[in-house]
Amino acid sequence: MARTTIHPGACPLDCPDTCTWQLTVTDGRAVALRGDRDHPFTRGALCGKVNRYLDAVNGPDRLTRPLVRVGPKGVGPVSYRPASWDEALQRVAAGLRATIDADGPQAILPYYFAGTMGLVQGWTMGPRLFAHLGASRLRTTICTAAARAALQSIYGGSVGFEPESIVDARLIVLWGANLLSTNLHHWPFVQEAQRRGAYVVTIDPLRTDTAARSDEHVAPLPGTDAALALGLMRHIRDLGGVDREWRDAHTTGGERLDARLDEWPVERAAAECGLDADVLRRLGARIAGTRPTAIRVGLGLQRHAGAGQAVRAIAAIPLLTGDFRYPGGGALVTTSGHHRIDPDRVARPADLPTPPARSINMSRLAAALTGEADPPVTSLVVFDANPAATVPDQNRLRAGLGRADLFTVVLEQRWTDTCDWADVVLPATMQPEHLDLHTSYGHHYATLNLPASTPPGEALPNTEIFRRIAAALGLTHPRLRDTDEDLARQLLDGAGVGFEELREHTYARATGVDVGAAPYAKGGFPTRDGRARFYDPQLTGQGVDPLIGYTPPVEAADPQLARRFPLALISPAGRFLMNSTFASLPWHLDRTGPPRIHLHPVDAAARGLADGDAARVHNDRGAFLATVAVDEATRPGLAFTYKAYWARLSPGGSTVNAVTAVRDTDLGGGPTFHDTRVQVEAAPAEAPAQPA
Ligand code: SF4
Repeated sequence: MARTTIHPGACPLDCPDTCTWQLTVTDGRAVALRGDRDHPFTRGALCGKVNRYLDAVNGPDRLTRPLVRVGPKGVGPVSYRPASWDEALQRVAAGLRATIDADGPQAILPYYFAGTMGLVQGWTMGPRLFAHLGASRLRTTICTAAARAALQSIYGGSVGFEPESIVDARLIVLWGANLLSTNLHHWPFVQEAQRRGAYVVTIDPLRTDTAARSDEHVAPLPGTDAALALGLMRHIRDLGGVDREWRDAHTTGGERLDARLDEWPVERAAAECGLDADVLRRLGARIAGTRPTAIRVGLGLQRHAGAGQAVRAIAAIPLLTGDFRYPGGGALVTTSGHHRIDPDRVARPADLPTPPARSINMSRLAAALTGEADPPVTSLVVFDANPAATVPDQNRLRAGLGRADLFTVVLEQRWTDTCDWADVVLPATMQPEHLDLHTSYGHHYATLNLPASTPPGEALPNTEIFRRIAAALGLTHPRLRDTDEDLARQLLDGAGVGFEELREHTYARATGVDVGAAPYAKGGFPTRDGRARFYDPQLTGQGVDPLIGYTPPVEAADPQLARRFPLALISPAGRFLMNSTFASLPWHLDRTGPPRIHLHPVDAAARGLADGDAARVHNDRGAFLATVAVDEATRPGLAFTYKAYWARLSPGGSTVNAVTAVRDTDLGGGPTFHDTRVQVEAAPAEAPAQPA
């Protein structure tokens, strides 16, 4: 008789919501998945893409055995044959040892990110093993590095208003935040605020679904957010909207900011942002006159050269208006700084020797593999990531991944673009099959996920794979044998919530901030003196103005480049794909359709392009093919395409990252995906995607 059980767990995807789910398992197989209706923030519904998560878990394309390369790199599964775990691990150990012997341990680079947000599988045993070896450390910059650095500078950490308190806001500004696609479970709280009378403004270069359902949509040019924030602050000040008592009690640098605002009359800001000055005046007046105002900031506006200053400038607005005084007031980019779990402490425990090592910026992987790293990287171990699809300058990256002297190991659940370049591919488990622990960057709860279903074939958790690699290398330190439960308990040490509590209840509020609280009503920001900072002397010498200001985009604002590549291009997240997860699954691809280049009707007409035409999108770095979508959601001069497709499954074999650049943000060393210029033209029949 079939045995059916139900298991609570956590969605592992790179999403601020970190939903709790209920998984039904019959005879070891995951057969049904639904949201946990009791969770106070996510309240039961999973998003569309994860409603079909079991397509990924039970897919016939799951990797079930280790694979070793027997043919050329870059051509796909045909170059591989199955191997036993023993043979594969010996190959991995031999490859890593050869690198250490020839070039030293820093020539090894572990490469990982948010393929799972689970702290146990993603951020403990793998980084621990490589730290012990003395491998290069990875600067994990590809998502929120600019915001983290900016928030550190202004608030002292990645903190903000309590997200559930947004129901108390009277004005909500969704700044670069497309909640309906990327933060779905915050939207009902916004709707509740609307029911109570709040006015909702979305600031986004595109008319997203969220913008369309807001009371007002403001569409600045991409990368000009800091100019917009400075113009708004100037107008707020001119209208007498500064709460001087609160500002003077809980911030430093207010007088310097005053002087900076003198440089930013509304007309200047509006011209920089491509907006009518009256739009700024109206919004500035609304903010000046509405308490509390909540500013929910999305992550996309960080993908510009001036991202650090943009986040600082937006985060400064509630410091002027005093909105942090009130529940539902302030700014919020991420809740991650409220959680008291530090994976770095577990990755490098005090009793495990970890030699000093250089750091390599993950967003610069294409450059690091093609000459920038000295000594060169000669071993690359990839887990929870698909860099061949997701990092900038795809052609340059492929040249690096294809190097004959590069030994590459990939831990994966299914065959991806990056597997094409591996020497050894190791089959990894998915969320229902392993233990993991999650915080959240969108709410204040921690969640435990326990293994519930049987992995396919010989797939193993990342942690177990790294334990076996350590053993194959002859490493005997007991910290390299810690179990997954050991690692979870170490993560929870001092976190304010215990393993037993989570094992019993699955999730728990974990930050010490109460629901609906105003944690900074009386200051107490996590800076040394408890004050937020408009001026940060620590930034002196880092190439960034210590005072909040404006760093313009590099390509988008370059008139010379615009002559050759007249369209600015951004590549936001869509609704049915998640970074590069799901981009090989039929149901998700059916919903998403082929890669599209969205053009304003004026730009499409100027190129003789119509809906459904095949187009080639190109610049000096490369090209990709896409289907034209004529779309009034954008403005003339601005094209967009959704990210997350895989090159190996795309027409022409390239994605949007063939045209994006390796270039750092002004703060934090993040990538500048949205600071790109291109030309779009009809694709000739049988056109190669890449320049000859
Ligand atoms: S991707 Fe986000 S919204 Fe969707 S189920 Fe996972 S955590 Fe929830």
